[in-house]
Amino acid sequence: MKVMKFGGSSLADSNRIRGVAAIVRDAMQDEPVAIVLSAMKGVTDSLISAARSAELGDAGYREALEELRRRHRETIADLIPGAAGTAVITGAMDLIDELADLLHGVELIRECSDRTMDLVLSFGERLNCHTVAAFLSHEGEPAEFVDAREIIVTDTTHGSAVVDYAETYQRTAARLHRCAGVPVITGFIASSEDGFTTTLGRNGSDYTASLVGAAISATSVEIWTDVDGVMSADPRFVEQAFVIPEISLQEAMELSYFGAEVIHPYTMLPAVERDIPLWIKNTLNPTVRGTRISGHPVHHDRPITGLASIGNVALINVEGGGMLGIPGMASRVFGALAKAGVNIIMISQASSEHSICICIRESELERASHVLREELREELDQRRIDQFEEQPGLEIVAVIGANMRGRPGISGRLFSALGSHEVNVLAIAQGSSEMNISFVIDRNDRKRTLNVVHDAFFVEDL
Ligand code: ADP
Ligand code: ASP
Ligand code: MG
Repeated sequence: MKVMKFGGSSLADSNRIRGVAAIVRDAMQDEPVAIVLSAMKGVTDSLISAARSAELGDAGYREALEELRRRHRETIADLIPGAAGTAVITGAMDLIDELADLLHGVELIRECSDRTMDLVLSFGERLNCHTVAAFLSHEGEPAEFVDAREIIVTDTTHGSAVVDYAETYQRTAARLHRCAGVPVITGFIASSEDGFTTTLGRNGSDYTASLVGAAISATSVEIWTDVDGVMSADPRFVEQAFVIPEISLQEAMELSYFGAEVIHPYTMLPAVERDIPLWIKNTLNPTVRGTRISGHPVHHDRPITGLASIGNVALINVEGGGMLGIPGMASRVFGALAKAGVNIIMISQASSEHSICICIRESELERASHVLREELREELDQRRIDQFEEQPGLEIVAVIGANMRGRPGISGRLFSALGSHEVNVLAIAQGSSEMNISFVIDRNDRKRTLNVVHDAFFVEDL
């Protein structure tokens, strides 16, 4: 059996869903398939903002609910005309009624915990999978809705839960074995041992597909999206970006960790570990080969493999003569941030030990700054630390590739290109894997920087 995952970008409306069904039917000529689906395009974002509005007591969330009703009703009516469609619409409206009750609860108590948010988000994938399963069955391809909360088991880290592989594999294999038709599995959502709904992080449906593939020893796992494969840069920003035909697991992980949302960073492990081929393919262009993610190093002559970037980040720069040679300074800084649950994306420390520069998500800046000022109060009071700067509105750009290892001149080429185009670099870090050089720039320089770097490494070589 093959696992095929279709993302929200491939499920924007009834026409796109028809396209997906055609791809599934075509694949079924060769072998049975299980499909994993995301919510319809934009639905997860609108559920997040609806929950946040309800939490603030802003009744505007009801409009978002009405829009959700309208969109699902119209999509189903278009896909499945007549009485059969009406029954499916009733099922979808019942689900949205349940969601409305939940959001009303959020509005009343003015609180949406991470646990509640996961439950709210689960409606997006559940609604869409009911629709697509019903449509496939209606078209003569019997299909069965599978709620991933029955099969994917995680801890209770709501928002980015940690998967229990052994339990997940066992439950998934058993559940899919019992399926009468094509399993249509909700991506992204899971459940904790004691039955609370959890989620696997944004873009988590990719990860679900890989877990399902590993559980059933699939012949392959295909991630179907709206681009021809993993590309040398995000094509929305870099027109010259090209498809990478084959990429190693490590490089794909680095790219996705640094913002290439074409694939969720954990997707690679389950499938590739079990030697199951993993592909990225395009629903808008189904005959194109796509990208193969490989468990082995992939040889090519290009100096780097690709670029990625993460937005909405901020820097905290702590500087002072009093930090020189004092052991434990870095560990206090990192310890305080870890205790406050702040995720450090990148660190750079000058070799003089004069300063520590930490890059974090902008949304965590206030909390991070507060705990650090508390931790370093004595040093700040005594002016052993004389600068504590916070800088929001930044972007991290990462240059990635296994070929950088042991190859001199890459940083020189990178920073001289940036220098000659007058891009201001605020901090630099090199991963110890030597597979990654990352640097921080002003958010407004993002597009220009990505193009300057892409040109420096690719266009001049072509
Ligand atoms: P889906 O809804 O199918 O999960 P996503 O929107 O999550 O799709 O991911 C696909 C998008 O990822 C593409 O439209 C593209 O703009 C973006 N992207 C970012 N970096 C890359 C990259 N290196 N290669 C390909 N696409 C990328
Ligand atoms: N619907 C979820 C998201 O938007 C999961 C996914 O699309 O993979 O992040
Ligand atoms: Mg995605």
